[in-house]
Amino acid sequence: MEWAPAPVVLPAFLDEGIGPCWIKRFLEDTDDAELNKFVKDFPGNETCHQPEAKTWVSGPQILEPRPQASDLCQDDLEFRPPSWPQPSDSQQFFSASAPLSPSTRPRSPWGKLDPYDSSEDDKEYVGFATLPNQVHRKSVKKGFDFTLMVAGESGLGKSTLVNSLFLTDLYRDRKLLSAEERIMQTVEITKHAVDIEEKGVKLRLTIVDTPGFGDAVNNTECWKPVAEYIDQQFEQYFRDESGLNRKNIQDNRVHCCLYFISPFGHGLRPLDVEFMKALHQRVNIVPILAKADTLTPPEVERKKRKIREEIEHFGIKVYQFPDCDSDEDEDFKLQDQALKESIPFAVIGSNTVVEARGRRVRGRLYPWGIVEVENPGHCDFVKLRTMLVRTHMQDLKDVTRETHYENYRAQCIQSMTRLVVKERNRKLWAQSKQVLGSP
Ligand code: GDP
Repeated sequence: MEWAPAPVVLPAFLDEGIGPCWIKRFLEDTDDAELNKFVKDFPGNETCHQPEAKTWVSGPQILEPRPQASDLCQDDLEFRPPSWPQPSDSQQFFSASAPLSPSTRPRSPWGKLDPYDSSEDDKEYVGFATLPNQVHRKSVKKGFDFTLMVAGESGLGKSTLVNSLFLTDLYRDRKLLSAEERIMQTVEITKHAVDIEEKGVKLRLTIVDTPGFGDAVNNTECWKPVAEYIDQQFEQYFRDESGLNRKNIQDNRVHCCLYFISPFGHGLRPLDVEFMKALHQRVNIVPILAKADTLTPPEVERKKRKIREEIEHFGIKVYQFPDCDSDEDEDFKLQDQALKESIPFAVIGSNTVVEARGRRVRGRLYPWGIVEVENPGHCDFVKLRTMLVRTHMQDLKDVTRETHYENYRAQCIQSMTRLVVKERNRKLWAQSKQVLGSP
């Protein structure tokens, strides 16, 4: 016979027109001793008596489906209490059986995610607190993906920074062009993908680079190939999503664009403004002040302020960090505030490890000293990496999906609808002309 959880049958008088509110109030207002007495004294009927029946007055309980024999290991069988209640068709229990003590109850096939694995009082524990664990387990199994675009004129340290951020060498096969070749070169889009794993968590990282951007003599509209690339990824996703096989869609949408600003200019150049204005509705732009080691600390502060003012002045919408929840702890709030005030991140990149104060660090060695990439006193590299990887990667993906992709999708549907309406009107017009024309 198939096993099913024991149905909870309430005493007859509770069944007779007394609703859940009354039961709730009754349970809340009555103390344990009285309830025990009530349960003992309650005459009940033969079919609903259970020795452990007092548990129906306690907190919610789990009616764990009885595992099938094939699902159990020997251990599970040993842990099973000697007589599992076997409800027959006519038999009904007064309540679920009492929760088993942690040492005697059967082990869940979920292992670590056993909802019973809690230090909480079992009686108060249903088990949905493990839902995040279930999601976590599933996500880890599936792996994560993230697509990062880097844009800005060549030589600003984009590839060095990407390698420093993810401790990889993504640009091994890069061919640097001569000045002559660069004059002729148009903006190209290149993709490097790498699978990285850290503590069992897999991340498929795709870096989209834009070699040639800003390199030509005339850079008018050189942002166009970049915008087209982003739109193509949205289009592909839109097609896949509307297709038959939606299970294994490969998501190549660009989740974030690090836009490199030269440290040598006075704030933003016209090309920077044009690029960011053309792309801010399509992708999360994070502005970067490149090669910060070429500036003194006051210069960094001045440049950052100027860039922020210009971003505001030109109505550019760079990626906005979400507001902190009010119940976050103070440290987190301060960290979040510091992150917001760091825009644009002033960074230093290096692929070499040098020795500084007896430690081996990633840095740049100059005749007058060493600048350390990961020293918060030297640059915002750590803040950028924390934001990108540890704190905001998921938000960047969410904003891409919920805002940028949704905008694209709405536009697509709108233009498709317009086309259909136009076509229908054309047909109606042709039909009416035929009717009018016929004798
Ligand atoms: P990309 O063309 O934008 O990818 O630039 P690269 O990463 O190839 O860097 C160009 C040059 O700048 C190389 O010689 C790097 O060593 C140097 N470089 C990279 N990052 C920095 C930095 O943060 N500070 C300084 N001073 N030089 C850097």
